[in-house]
Amino acid sequence: MPVSSEPFAELIACPDCDAVQELPHVASGRLICCRCHATLERATGRFRGAALATATATLLLLIPADTMRLMSVSRYGLHGTSYIGSGVAVIWRQGWPATAIAVGLLVLVLPILRFGLLVISLAALTMSLRGLWVGRLFRYAEALDLWAMPDVFLIGCAIGYSRLAPFAVVRIGAGGWCFIGAALTAMLTRGLIERRRVWRGMGVAQPARGDSAFGCPGCQLVVPAGSEGGRCPRCARRLHRYLPGSMAVALALTVAGLLLYPVAMFYPANVLQYIGGRSPHSLFSAVERLLGAHFILLALAVFTTSILIPFVKLAGVLWFVVSVHRRSISHLVFKTRFFRAIDELGRWSAMDVFTVVVYLPMVQFGQLANVRAEDGLSALLAVVLLTVAASRCFDPRLLWKDAAA
Ligand SMILES: [Zn+2]
Ligand SMILES: [Zn+2]
Repeated sequence: MPVSSEPFAELIACPDCDAVQELPHVASGRLICCRCHATLERATGRFRGAALATATATLLLLIPADTMRLMSVSRYGLHGTSYIGSGVAVIWRQGWPATAIAVGLLVLVLPILRFGLLVISLAALTMSLRGLWVGRLFRYAEALDLWAMPDVFLIGCAIGYSRLAPFAVVRIGAGGWCFIGAALTAMLTRGLIERRRVWRGMGVAQPARGDSAFGCPGCQLVVPAGSEGGRCPRCARRLHRYLPGSMAVALALTVAGLLLYPVAMFYPANVLQYIGGRSPHSLFSAVERLLGAHFILLALAVFTTSILIPFVKLAGVLWFVVSVHRRSISHLVFKTRFFRAIDELGRWSAMDVFTVVVYLPMVQFGQLANVRAEDGLSALLAVVLLTVAASRCFDPRLLWKDAAA
């Protein structure tokens, strides 16, 4: 990893294990935590404005993607179209308003909010504007990263396309192409953003450290022990050595997720009604259908993301909570790596929900044929949201609380 010409090392506390360490400035490559092996900095070596450029492109592409036609389908003179908003509206009309609101937030509102905040904060830094508000906005944008799901929705669209393509003529609309562009630039932004460089760019001086210093959970600034309960001078986050109520909230969300998991797996997520019959589809039958149509990779993706990952996440968070309760200090590096993996992967479980959202408005042909959302869809979305929230609420630094430094 080439060392940058910027001369000063930065003092930070690892967000996963709270180890305080000095980071040299690198022009490209990764810097790893000496204690838990978390990636503390990933420098791409690209030009400084790369992330701002891709974030702006994402924001601009999201507007037509959200308002123009995603896909259309036609067969035997029947035509169906799908907009993101029409999927949300159909779910609402079919009697699932909470599910419709959650989907609308994840796919329509939060991506625009995340990229809007990111563009404002990165543009402010580029223009050398400073202030607590810049740190606050960048922290909000980062917190929304897991909840804004254009990339997950894109894969959901691909599966929706594969469901209809064998039976009808499916065309991708202008909104669909813009959405593909937005999802790709969103993924590019995730890869290009250099978080440590952004935080350093805020120009906030390192406070006097003292004994028992700890890290801000928002920006990893090392703050003295006496700062507990106050606000971070760089990102304005409330400072806590360990997130209050972390264990109880993570446990409550995990138990709720475990109770809903069987409903999400075995109850139909949607039902196709047609003259003379009805055909319910649960998650397991969706995997079987994809295998039957020889979409082996998509079948594997649905099985892994919608069936396996939610269960592994629920079991994992339960293991972490029990470990902290028993004050276990075994396998800490593995547990922390496992925590990072499930925290990052959990959002992909929403893929099958989004497939139904795309597919639903295209198959509304009155008495001839129509698709209805069922209990399994809401249960699956609830499990995904509960698992993402559970890992977000669990503070991994608690795992290291009793370990020697
Ligand atoms: Zn660490
Ligand atoms: Zn902070």
